[in-house]
Amino acid sequence: MATSYTLSMAIRQLNPDLIICGKQSADGDTAQTGPSLAEMLKISQITNVLKINDVGGNISCHTRTGSVSVDLPALITVEKFANLRFPSVRAKTKDVEIWDAKKIGADIEKCGTNGSPTKVLKTYENSVGGRKCKFIYPNELMEIINVEREKRSTKLEYVPSAKRFDEVWVIGEELEKIARSIGKNIKVLPKQRVEKIVDFASKHNPKVILWPGDLWGRANAPRAAVLLKTGLCADCTHLETDGDRLYMYRPTYSGNLMAKIKCSTNPQMATVRVSKPDNKDVVIAGGKGVKGDFDLIKAFAKKIGADVGASRGLVDMGIAPYHMQVGLTGKAISPRVYIPCGISGAIHHTCAIEGVGTIIAINPDKNARIFQHSDFGIISSFKGIPF
Ligand SMILES: Cc1cc2nc3c(=O)[nH]c(=O)nc-3n(C[C@H](O)[C@H](O)[C@H](O)COP(=O)(O)OP(=O)(O)OC[C@H]3O[C@@H](n4cnc5c(N)ncnc54)[C@H](O)[C@@H]3O)c2cc1C
Repeated sequence: MATSYTLSMAIRQLNPDLIICGKQSADGDTAQTGPSLAEMLKISQITNVLKINDVGGNISCHTRTGSVSVDLPALITVEKFANLRFPSVRAKTKDVEIWDAKKIGADIEKCGTNGSPTKVLKTYENSVGGRKCKFIYPNELMEIINVEREKRSTKLEYVPSAKRFDEVWVIGEELEKIARSIGKNIKVLPKQRVEKIVDFASKHNPKVILWPGDLWGRANAPRAAVLLKTGLCADCTHLETDGDRLYMYRPTYSGNLMAKIKCSTNPQMATVRVSKPDNKDVVIAGGKGVKGDFDLIKAFAKKIGADVGASRGLVDMGIAPYHMQVGLTGKAISPRVYIPCGISGAIHHTCAIEGVGTIIAINPDKNARIFQHSDFGIISSFKGIPF
């Protein structure tokens, strides 16, 4: 909120036709600054842009969710856009003009920590998701899959707080389960135009609104926060309350740390990581290790009635489509069985599989990080697996 406010005051001095923001920072990962800046400047936005198709009186972009066009002035947040240019060592230095609050007409109370309705109460090492791996032989794979897929529960349970809010609002049904851990009654609103949700909230003053942490929620909740003049905590994985304040837990620094965050204004709002109900009880995913042989993974998935996933490595190679991407910038999953094959297990990937029942990793590198997050491991090339 404070960052977007400061930027909005500076940008008003320039009056540009187009503002290009990165989708999200590498430390906070909130993806909030772009959308809240657009709302403060009252201009259109397009998020998760992969390519600009055309710019004239309007701008048309190809995004994660299809092609979108809006009138200028506009703000876009970009994902994979261009390769960054390294600064040249021979470049001549120039003076950087420094603007202060007075120059941009900003209210100092709304800048920096003073202007932030959310506060980080503590950060700590994220130890969630580590598992004890038992190594097995390739020919045992089918038997383990069959035994583990019969087990009922997955590992993600939400512990209810001792005191709970009388009512919690959620946008979209996926959040009902986590909302029950902090609220006695849950009011579910369908996804709709953000102005309508804001209108409704202004009339009824809910204490808490939870938004889905999907592309829609991450693009719209920051705009609602600006309109409702309240804070927003992004991409939470766990919630707690003492009956009055909401304590929001979220991975930060790409999941290496967890942060506990509180919001001092109402409604207290969070986007919450959604793990979509999986269509199938087993998901098998390919990574860069399987490269062009991804069809083999897809054929095996079909044979055993499993869904197919992929690492970002494989998606970035253009071999798997984005909707299959599992991870921080893809989707979180929680099937009974997950089989990452040819995936190294970067934290950006493992942070989205914490809710899986049983993880069976296939990788020829016995030191691959994925084994630290697996229940079973097969040290082998995918070529040695009797798929
Ligand atoms: C902000 C940010 C967000 C990100 N979001 C995501 C995300 O949502 N999802 C995601 O997955 N990543 C994400 N990443 C990228 C992540 O950090 C890793 O780069 C990525 O997960 C690596 O993909 P990979 O495991 O397929 O490839 P690699 O890391 O290259 O691993 C390939 C693995 O294949 C194994 N291998 C090699 N040959 C074979 C063989 N014949 N058979 C079997 N295995 C073999 C290797 O031993 C290796 O372990 C993100 C990164 C950033 C910075």
